[in-house]
Amino acid sequence: MSITVVGTVAFDAIQTPFGKVDRCIGGSATYFSVAASFFSPVNLVSVIGDDFTDEDASIFKGRRIDLGGLQRIAGAKSFFWSGEYGFDLNVAKTRDTQLNVLADFNPQLNEQQRNSNVLFLANAQPDLQLAVKKQSNAKLVALDTMNYWIASVKDALTRVFREVDLLVINEAEVRQFTEEANLVKGARRILALGPKTLVIKRGEYGVLMVTKDAIFAAPAYPLENVFDPTGAGDTFAGGFLGYLASRPEINDGEMRKAIIYGSVLASFTVEKFSLDRLREITIDDVNDRYEAFRGLMAF
Ligand code: AMP
Repeated sequence: MSITVVGTVAFDAIQTPFGKVDRCIGGSATYFSVAASFFSPVNLVSVIGDDFTDEDASIFKGRRIDLGGLQRIAGAKSFFWSGEYGFDLNVAKTRDTQLNVLADFNPQLNEQQRNSNVLFLANAQPDLQLAVKKQSNAKLVALDTMNYWIASVKDALTRVFREVDLLVINEAEVRQFTEEANLVKGARRILALGPKTLVIKRGEYGVLMVTKDAIFAAPAYPLENVFDPTGAGDTFAGGFLGYLASRPEINDGEMRKAIIYGSVLASFTVEKFSLDRLREITIDDVNDRYEAFRGLMAF
């Protein structure tokens, strides 16, 4: 089964307490598609400028990522994001966002993209997310968002929540959206709007998955060296949905395994800047860490 992702392919500038990089490859769809392609074929739908070179695009090479939906706009610049983290790596501070090519992005899915089984709507303006959702025949539609949209266009975001099956969201965003301090109560309020599953990302504390009937909690893999958390959320979503799309049937047991695969992929991303660590790992590394996770959680 294939996945379609609509999101950003970007350049980032990042500063963490452990180092600094002025220009590296980033973007929600970049992290997502590289992670998901370990398990399933991915159709990437995004837009870049002509500053994004073939060498930059080599991150997608040799992977099951179809770039037919990656538009290149001549004479324009790619989306750029600059962020900073203090010692609390769960909190990213945005220094600068330059939309560039993203300002006029109006994705039109082709037949292959429309008919993939899973659709991931990465963080974007909610009306754009809804317009893409309406073009898709996916059986499973998942969505990410961010604090900016909750603060500025909550009604539009609520309309999208009603249309999707699964939400991947930060714990702070659950609290912000629902104005409810308790995460489980907040999750239930969002589930009442329509999504069947809420996957709440809690940074170094792991993930909480809440459905109408069940709750599953997983820790983050306890790394000694967390270098740069950028992309952890999108990598998690890629591993999670990539694994699910590779299964003949989706049930509670598979969802739980998918949470662990997502956590495994994200744990690699944070070990180096950009996609530097994802670039060098193999599926054997992924499976070894999956087994280590099993040991971590057994009691
Ligand atoms: P995360 O997984 O949440 O850490 O996502 C990190 C990636 O999201 C970075 O590589 C950025 O390029 C990208 N990004 C940051 N801000 C935005 C935004 N407003 N819209 C879309 N993508 C963004």
